[in-house]
Amino acid sequence: MVMQPSWSLHLLSEILAAFSTEDPENLRNVVNRVAESVEAEVAAILSDGTIRFCIGMTGDERQQLESLASSRPPQITIGAGRLNSYWAPLGEGNLLVVGRLGDTFDVEERSLLRAMARSIELSLRMLEAISAERQARLDASYQACHDALTDLPNRLLVLERLCRWTQQPPDDGACGTAVLFIDIDRFKWVNDAHGHAAGDELLVHVSRILQRSVRRDDLVGRLSGDEFIVITRTRKPEAASELAQRIITAIRRPIHVAGTELSHSASVGICLAQPGDTASLLIENADMAMYRAKALGRGRYALFQPSMREEARNRLALEEALRHAVGNGEIVCHLQPIVRLVDRQLVGFEALARWKHPQQGLLAPTAFIAAAEDSGLIEGIDLWMMEAACRALGRWQQLPGLEHLRLSVNLSARTLSAADLVQRIEPILAASGIAPSQLFLEITETSLVEDIQSTTSTIQGLRHLGLKLAIDDFGTGYSSLLYLKRFPVGLLKIDQSFVADLGSDPEDEAIAQAIVSLAGALGVSVVAEGVETETQEARLLELGSDYAQGHLYGPGLEIEATERLLIEPALPRSEPGPSLKAIDRS
Ligand code: C2E
Ligand code: MG
Ligand code: MG
Repeated sequence: MVMQPSWSLHLLSEILAAFSTEDPENLRNVVNRVAESVEAEVAAILSDGTIRFCIGMTGDERQQLESLASSRPPQITIGAGRLNSYWAPLGEGNLLVVGRLGDTFDVEERSLLRAMARSIELSLRMLEAISAERQARLDASYQACHDALTDLPNRLLVLERLCRWTQQPPDDGACGTAVLFIDIDRFKWVNDAHGHAAGDELLVHVSRILQRSVRRDDLVGRLSGDEFIVITRTRKPEAASELAQRIITAIRRPIHVAGTELSHSASVGICLAQPGDTASLLIENADMAMYRAKALGRGRYALFQPSMREEARNRLALEEALRHAVGNGEIVCHLQPIVRLVDRQLVGFEALARWKHPQQGLLAPTAFIAAAEDSGLIEGIDLWMMEAACRALGRWQQLPGLEHLRLSVNLSARTLSAADLVQRIEPILAASGIAPSQLFLEITETSLVEDIQSTTSTIQGLRHLGLKLAIDDFGTGYSSLLYLKRFPVGLLKIDQSFVADLGSDPEDEAIAQAIVSLAGALGVSVVAEGVETETQEARLLELGSDYAQGHLYGPGLEIEATERLLIEPALPRSEPGPSLKAIDRS
């Protein structure tokens, strides 16, 4: 038998160490201990001063050895004839036979024996070191290409395997390769709401689902965070979609994590390999398709189309241009008046971002807010907007009759979840001199509800500062109203989609009415957005809305333009063109 490096080398070196002491008693003890510890694997035969070690031998082999040892001369002879010691091969095993050990050694034999023992021991130590190093190398290379949490192949190994798959033509010509990119929806929310241990548990759970959903020779890997990959051979393209749907359905089943039931979903992008596609291209394509699945509403799959590549390129170019725009001061702050409905008295402004694009002119936020959110630029934009608008409002509040003006600024979910938001708002408020009660932070229901855990402490901090929230686009997001109780909400903004058909659509009327009643019951004010006609205004007045904002009163204007209108004598209401029609300080 071939010696296993781990235990038999270790035993051999132990025996040799005992051997080099030239003490038969010690040697016998070691042999017995070794024989005991590994039971039948080691045998020591002691007779007439002759010691034989059989390591890893069966009974038959031992017998064979005994007869061989007695019938054959030693293969290596050490010493002057009295000490016969040799390594003799027997079957597949190695055998060390040492003859006549004990007091009978002369000086020369002893030193030879010691030298032999040392050199064997040294070799064994080296072998052990090499094997330990090899094992460590094996461990390290395993770790380098596997994910520690789920034990799945990581990006490195996935790429390598996918490379091989794409280079190897399908075995029977009927198979193609499909790459599925799986991303857990709102995973950050799970982490924030239930803690990282729960997030980890969910990741492991999903990895097991994926492993169970595929065939033996498919590959499941974890690319990073909540991104997984499945590489599968498919006979027909529909099989990939069916697999994606099975995975989505399995992941959607709620699980119990950290004492709560967790409902979650995943979005899947599918890319079917074409001849010549590289591994990284396939993953990129599947990622793009996954992005589309998310944009379509999450919890679904989408198949890669070449047009997605063009869209992704545009998105990246947009992000790049936006980064430049932020640096070049091309983002500007417009202020749209908010009026009290009963008398159209100006009560404040909402700050709305615009991009003064050098080629395309003035761009509305719909053209760039999503890109700003994806690229992380939104935080800077939101805070810059707040600073610019607060600075202006602080100045205007010094003017007689304008002390009461308030300001609303929009905050994205991403900005709201910034850990240092409160510390960043504090100096802006202090520098502008406006009272915290005069600043409203407009937040959509979706960002409040989705990020409830991570935003709770921020919102408490904002409450401490004395700031109030305005719920933007109210009625278009979540149906949960719990946050109205939990957070310092001071304003509900009726979304313009409910305002547009006021006076003609009974459903919109009912919704607007319900929002006004709810606000009344909660002691919260209401601002109706997108008021364009006097009919809408009249209806809102009847419904009991407090404030309004819309083109009827004036569009958003740059700070300088707004300032001119504020400090110059008020323009007559009939004045055409952009004007603050609401400004009537009489
Ligand atoms: P929003 O906060 O609901 O803002 C109201 C939107 O309605 C604005 O669109 C405004 O120009 C538009 N609007 C006002 N009056 C009328 C009207 O009479 N008729 C019509 N049809 N529309 C009217 P805008 O400026 O295009 O902004 C769109 C959205 O972009 C905003 O919706 C807000 O959610 C977001 N946004 C704007 N500025 C910022 C910002 O600085 N930061 C963040 N995070 N989001 C912003
Ligand atoms: Mg708003
Ligand atoms: Mg709105």
